Amino acid sequence: MRTLGLALSLAFMLATVACGGNSTNPTPSSPLPPPSTATPDVRADYLVSQMTLAEKVQLVHGGAALDWTQHTLPRGGAGWIPGIPRLGIPDLYFSDGSVGVGNSVGPATALPSSVASAASWDLNEAAKYGQVIGAESRAYGINVNLGGNVNLAGREPRGGRNFETKGEDPILAGKITAAHLKAIQGQFVIAGIKHFGFNDQETGRTTANALIDERSGRESDLLAFEIGVKDSGVQSVMCSYNLVNGTYACENQYLLNTVLKGDWAFPGFVMSDWDATHSTVNAAQAGLDQEQPENIYFGSNLLQAVQTGQVPQTRIDDMVHRILRAMFAVGIFDHPATVQPIDAVTDAAIAQETEEQGAVLLKNSGSLPLDKTAIASIAVIGSHADVGVLSGGGSAQVNPVGGPALTEGRPCPPCWAQVMWDPSSPLQAIQAKVPLASVTFNDGSNASAAAALAASSNVAIVFVSQWESEAMDLPSLNFTDVIHPTPINQDALVNAVAAANPHTVVVLENGGANVLPWLANVNAVLEAWYPGQRGGDAIANILFGDVNPSGKLPITFPASVNDLPRPVLATPPNSTTPFNVDYTTDAANVGYKWYDTKGLTPLFPFGFGLSYTTFAITNPQLTANLSANSLGFQVSFSLQNTGARAGSEVAQVYLGLPASTGEPKRLVGWQKVPLSAGQQQSVTVNVVAADSSHPLSYWDVNAHAWLAAPGTYTVYLGNSSRNLTTAGTFQLP
Ligand code: BGC
Repeated sequence: MRTLGLALSLAFMLATVACGGNSTNPTPSSPLPPPSTATPDVRADYLVSQMTLAEKVQLVHGGAALDWTQHTLPRGGAGWIPGIPRLGIPDLYFSDGSVGVGNSVGPATALPSSVASAASWDLNEAAKYGQVIGAESRAYGINVNLGGNVNLAGREPRGGRNFETKGEDPILAGKITAAHLKAIQGQFVIAGIKHFGFNDQETGRTTANALIDERSGRESDLLAFEIGVKDSGVQSVMCSYNLVNGTYACENQYLLNTVLKGDWAFPGFVMSDWDATHSTVNAAQAGLDQEQPENIYFGSNLLQAVQTGQVPQTRIDDMVHRILRAMFAVGIFDHPATVQPIDAVTDAAIAQETEEQGAVLLKNSGSLPLDKTAIASIAVIGSHADVGVLSGGGSAQVNPVGGPALTEGRPCPPCWAQVMWDPSSPLQAIQAKVPLASVTFNDGSNASAAAALAASSNVAIVFVSQWESEAMDLPSLNFTDVIHPTPINQDALVNAVAAANPHTVVVLENGGANVLPWLANVNAVLEAWYPGQRGGDAIANILFGDVNPSGKLPITFPASVNDLPRPVLATPPNSTTPFNVDYTTDAANVGYKWYDTKGLTPLFPFGFGLSYTTFAITNPQLTANLSANSLGFQVSFSLQNTGARAGSEVAQVYLGLPASTGEPKRLVGWQKVPLSAGQQQSVTVNVVAADSSHPLSYWDVNAHAWLAAPGTYTVYLGNSSRNLTTAGTFQLP
């Protein structure tokens, strides 16, 4: 640090000479930079005091050219901001990375979708996921990650980016996201949370106007962000393309200044989504700190606005302070990255582990786990299962280690709109489990041929897939095929195979919820999401019982598209006119809360997932703590593995608030517990009112605050949102 201090002092002396008496330059407060032990705020303030206005402006916009889609930026990321060498300020390199390091940075570990990470319901597992993204970013010299998509998947199950999200529940999504972000920043990489806010559909995303009232917003999408921001210490927030209640998110006073920087005291910086800035003065005054990826509004226009007093000097100083503060807080100055190879072996193992923890067994009438000793022939059908597993598209697309198994379907460029299959062959992994059996692949393009193969096999495993990508939503919740030149009707394929073989197992490769019209006809269904770099091995391990499935749905599967809050997707009249997406329908009741309040029966409820063993939750004991400064409750219970093989269960705690609040029950806590066969364990879930998730409170629009209502609180315990017993009640006076 002494070296950096010396360099900064020298740099400062040179700068003073070079800048002369230019009156737009601030007078340095001190010739000596603060020591590295000083707080990020003090260190940032010092640098701000040394900078010219032009240098300040340089840090508040991306360094890409106007036609940025045609160029590769330094280090292959999505954004870049040149540093200021005379002050020792390093370059910032931004790269996507919701499911692994993206863009053209280089081959990276393709993790399973982050919705799979959420389906693990395991914060330690989620931390490993974030650690892979952080470590690989750093190895490539990327120091800002743009992952952290915490938009709520339950608002629009057809949403093209649901695979990047953490599901529909604000508390689960917020906590899983926070675990990712904290681990990324643990690798000295600034993490990001996005898209702030209500960017819950892709159709017309740049003109969609999300309508939501104050209370519903705070209790749903904004709550997920609040937890993500507060629990992780994340240093960047990306505002979204869409408008919220009539104002673009990136110039929305309420979102940026009132909620994020005011109520949540967020100390980091807000960057725009790519080309989501719409003004100079409005955006700067509303709280946007950085335009990305170029300088249409925050370059010379901002410089002029500061010179003419339209944007106060204090505001641009604040913008720069926030960016530098983030860099100090995360360690960008003190721990510069050395470009080096990624640890592909360790990271692939984490990708596999995430999939094994996050895949959800939805149905099993006895075909699973497959019996290695008894099976002589297996038909493996569809979805290129001979070579790989599907991945999600758009800016989150990862170029997998080893290169894609296959790309298809769309013209490239733009290459992020290509359909990419990760190089992990389920067929090979299945064959490796039963080397002596006959394992045969059929591509599923001809349902009769697939059914004939199934009829002559002991077991048929059909892989159905649905590609999702940014900038589009799904045409339907059925397994429609948007990929092949001659589309395969996968629903019909499953029915044909199931009619030919009673041991038909279906594996889903998708980004969120689907309808399964053939469910009653098949023996078993495994939700594998986009399973990542080692998906084939993980799926085979689960199918053969070497891994006992333990994932739980982080998103409700509706019985029909007619049950959605918006059965028809809101679509724009043209590409420029704002149009409403009305979230006041489901309001705060996203996902399971919608189905609960409407009395609708979902196909599979939130929190649901089967195992190859069975569990019993018994003897719940509820203790409430009513003292004002430690308000909350504890629920203790016995959890027993009542079956014959080891497995993990996710015990879930839901809370019903007093009827006066009108709130449906909500998830407030959970614990994933591994248990050997027969093992019994006492488990305690602690719920604290002061937690960032406000578990006991509703948002009061008169007080503009979270309040706990007087009345009866009911605590429920179980293993899905629809399989609960009452653990007890307590009263708040
Ligand atoms: C996406 C962002 C992404 C950015 C940079 C935008 O199109 O909406 O999520 O981070 O591009 O690639």
